[in-house]
Amino acid sequence: MTTRNKIIDSYCPKCESMTEHERRGRFVTCQACAFTHPVVRLRLVCSWCATVMDDGTPGQPTTHGICPACSEKLEQQIEEDDDDDLDR
Ligand SMILES: [Zn+2]
Ligand SMILES: [Zn+2]
Repeated sequence: MTTRNKIIDSYCPKCESMTEHERRGRFVTCQACAFTHPVVRLRLVCSWCATVMDDGTPGQPTTHGICPACSEKLEQQIEEDDDDDLDR
């Protein structure tokens, strides 16, 4: 029986982009360039309110996402917009 390593999305310092990586304990191997390196976590900042959701690995690029609070707010806004459309 062969144990299949988990494929995860991680930042590759060699490709300088998010690529598929095969997980090997604390290290990951890039599926695109076969470079093995420690797991890199990017600094994750909310695009809406600039809340830092993940400090990430020092010296790594920043990626943008949406924090739970803003995603909730956005969903509420969409629902409110729908209500407005029904009223008019
Ligand atoms: Zn790579
Ligand atoms: Zn936010």
